[in-house]
Amino acid sequence: MVLCAVAVSAVAFGEIKIRCDYPGGNVKVVKIDEAGGVVSVAPDLRDTQGKWFHWNFTLSGAAGKTLHFQFPKNHYPYLTSLGPAISRDGGTTWRWLNADGKRHEPNNAFDYTFGADENETRFAVAIPYTQKEWDAASARWRGKEGVKFDVLCKSQSGKRDTELLRIPCRKGKAKWIFAFTARHHACEVTANPVMEGIIDEILSDSKEGGWIRDNADCVFIPFMDKDGVEDGDQGKNRNPHDHNRDYIEGRYTSVRAFKELLVRESVGKTIVFFDLHSPFVRGSTRSPQQDSVFTFASTNEQQNKHVDAFRKNWAEATKDGLLVYNGKFDQRAGKGQEARLEKARKSGLLTSRHWVESLPNCYSSICCEFGYSLCGGVYSRESGRGLGHSLLKAAVHTVTESAGK
Ligand SMILES: [Zn+2]
Repeated sequence: MVLCAVAVSAVAFGEIKIRCDYPGGNVKVVKIDEAGGVVSVAPDLRDTQGKWFHWNFTLSGAAGKTLHFQFPKNHYPYLTSLGPAISRDGGTTWRWLNADGKRHEPNNAFDYTFGADENETRFAVAIPYTQKEWDAASARWRGKEGVKFDVLCKSQSGKRDTELLRIPCRKGKAKWIFAFTARHHACEVTANPVMEGIIDEILSDSKEGGWIRDNADCVFIPFMDKDGVEDGDQGKNRNPHDHNRDYIEGRYTSVRAFKELLVRESVGKTIVFFDLHSPFVRGSTRSPQQDSVFTFASTNEQQNKHVDAFRKNWAEATKDGLLVYNGKFDQRAGKGQEARLEKARKSGLLTSRHWVESLPNCYSSICCEFGYSLCGGVYSRESGRGLGHSLLKAAVHTVTESAGK
């Protein structure tokens, strides 16, 4: 657990108290004007360069009052398209301020009326996901045949374990290795329920689940930036670079360990890799993709055919889902991607997706983005899991079609 960066005395004014002393917590309290009913807060950026938008705090002492929450007025969005996520049970269940799916404006302020008996409420930029939620999901996988709970490495601080879940091929030697990572950027919470759905699908009785268990080794790393997730860091754009720009230098324990694992365990197998992310905090007219599900193309021509086949299959598989992926906002091949990759490589920066796609036995290496609140529908942990189910089915359809069986 980590304490707020702001001194404890600065977060209690009169009756109102704000705290973020729990996993994933993050806030900077700028000012509490109790008489005026205005609470001014900001994200605690820590080592993130530039601006970013992760925050998560608990407020007490406002029962029966209406408060205006104000984020910095600097033309930067701090709220998703549906406003903040709100929990009245200490972070167990969450709803969006605009649960009806209507867009919330402005993007840097909201009002909230506390019930007469509402003594403590948690507010967050998005529906949080930390080790606590992973442990809860793990309870339903524990004891299932073949599931192995392993450790990738120690976290960067050395204080925590970086979880590694394995579902090895049940028929001896696998032909494929499917690898899934999330939270290269600590604040990107929408990735994890999707990962849960992928695991649930593999362990289900579906034909796709059966195929993958007969033919592939599967590895899952839910928190690439484990310390950042638990400490409530932004994680994105860390100084000097974040976890997903570390695939040349290897300054982070998890990146080094993941690279070693994939090279070592993919010998004689073909790699299918998915790196799961959340995009920018909200969409706009200029960037509507931020309120959707979208994927990035490969810079490898042959692999890109597999990416396109997967996209087609995924769009088909999500048709009846709570969240819909339709491919409309995908980042297509070309468009200067190769030049950008080369420039990044020259400055010593490389993403997981690009590193995996450079391996000779890579079939496809796909980065997927899942909007924070609007995501081809209204995002919840449940609807996020649904996208995981369809993603896995589509991935299996893609490899079985191209293998001609
Ligand atoms: Zn990301």
